[in-house]
Amino acid sequence: MRVFLGTLGCRLNESEIESIGRAFKMRGHLLVDRAEAADLCVLNSCAVTAEAERKSRQLVKRMHRQAPAAEIVVTGCYSELHPDKVLALPGVRRVVENRAKEQLVQRLLGEPEDASFDLEPLARYARPGEIRRTRAFVKVQDGCDNQCTFCITTVARGAGRSRPIRQVVNEIKALVGVGYVEAVISGVHLGSYGRDLEAACDLKQLIEAILEQTSLRRLRLSSLEPWDIPAGFFQLWRDPRLCGHLHMPLQAGCDDTLRRMARRTRKSSYRALVDEARACAPGLSLTSDIIVGFPGETEAAFEESLAYVEELDFAHLHVFRYSPRPGTLAAGFSDQVEARDKVRRSRLMHALSEAGRRRFHAAHLGAVAEVLFEQSPREGSWQGLSANNLRVAVDCGAELHNRVARVGLREQCEDGTLRGELCSVGEETGSSGLFETKKR
Ligand code: SF4
Repeated sequence: MRVFLGTLGCRLNESEIESIGRAFKMRGHLLVDRAEAADLCVLNSCAVTAEAERKSRQLVKRMHRQAPAAEIVVTGCYSELHPDKVLALPGVRRVVENRAKEQLVQRLLGEPEDASFDLEPLARYARPGEIRRTRAFVKVQDGCDNQCTFCITTVARGAGRSRPIRQVVNEIKALVGVGYVEAVISGVHLGSYGRDLEAACDLKQLIEAILEQTSLRRLRLSSLEPWDIPAGFFQLWRDPRLCGHLHMPLQAGCDDTLRRMARRTRKSSYRALVDEARACAPGLSLTSDIIVGFPGETEAAFEESLAYVEELDFAHLHVFRYSPRPGTLAAGFSDQVEARDKVRRSRLMHALSEAGRRRFHAAHLGAVAEVLFEQSPREGSWQGLSANNLRVAVDCGAELHNRVARVGLREQCEDGTLRGELCSVGEETGSSGLFETKKR
C-alpha cells in the first residue's frame, strides 16, 4: 500500500507522524511524498487555534481532491475534539482517537494491538530523512496536568504520562544505529517528565541518561514550559552535545495577563530562568511563544508585554493571535479583544521577533558553526541547522544530506537564512559507515 502522511502543529505531532511512518515501513508499505500517489492518507491534525483547525480541514479536503480514490484517516487534536465534523469531510473513512494513536497502524491493518515502540524493525527500516526529516523527533511524554485557561491541549490529550528512561534510551540507540545525528525530544509538558512513572524520575535524569548511554551527536529539546524545571537543570548544557537552543513559551510579558492565563510563571521567575540558562549556555538561542489579544489584555498590558519581550531579546517568537477554544475557561471570559487590535498587536510582536532574529544572526557573522545539513532546495545548494538553531545555507555541488559540516557564517539573507562557506565536512554518518546518498 502507498501511504501519504500529513501533520500540522507542534513537534509532538511531528514525532508521532514519524512513528506512524516507521510502523508502515516496517510492514513493507511504501511512503509517498504526494497525496496523488497514495492509496491511504493519514493526517495528524491540530486544534491549538481556530486557524489550525481550519488548516486541518483544508488539508483533508486537499488530500481528497488530489487522491479521490484514497482512504483518509485522521487522528490528532482536531479530530479528537470534533470527530463528527471530521467524519463528515470528503474521503474520511476513519478517525483514530489520540490515545490509540500509537496503535493506529495495527488498528488500520487489523493486527493485534501490541506494545508500542517496537525497536527491532526500526533498526531495519527507518533511516534519516526517509520518513520526514533528517532529525529524529522522539516523543518522551504526552498530556498535561495544567489548565492554562486558553489551552485546549489538556482536553485533547489528557493527563501527563511519560515513557520510561530505558525505552527512550533504547529508541535513541536504534536511531543512532541507522545513522541519525540529532534527536529532538518532545512532549506536551516536558518539565513534568517522569513524575507519573512507577520509579519517579525527572527530565534532567532522562537527558543525563541519553547523553551518558548513547553516542548521539546532538540532542535538542523541543518546548519547555517555564516551571517544573528540575534543580541544576541548565548545568546540563555543559555537555556540548546538548544543542544550545531553548524554546520556553512565555505567552505574555505582563503578570496580570499571565495570572488570567493561569500560567505558573511570572515575569520575575521567567527572567530568573533565562538568566540562569544564558549563564550556563553562552550563545544560547532563546525562542518563545506569545499570545496577543488574550481576553482582558488592555493596551497598557500589551505595551508592558512588548517592552518585556524586547528586553529579553529572543532570537525568534511564534506569535499567536488569541482565538477562543470552546471548552476552555478563557473562551467564556467577557472582555474579548477586538480582531483589529489583535492584528495590530500581532504585527508589532512579529516586528520584534524579526528584529531579534536579525540581531541574533548578526552576532554570529564571522563565526564558524557546526551545521547538520537537511535539504537541498535547489541543485548545488544546501540548507541545515546549527546546534543553536541558525538556519544556514551554503553552495555545494556534493551530497551533504545528513552530514555535519563546519561553516563560516558570512551574510544574512532575506529568506531568514545565514549564508556561509563550507570549512570542513565531518565524518560520514550511517550505521554502515556509508553516507546515505538519497537525493532530497
Ligand atoms: S502547560 Fe498550559 S499551555 Fe502547556 S499544554 Fe499544559 S495547559 Fe496547555
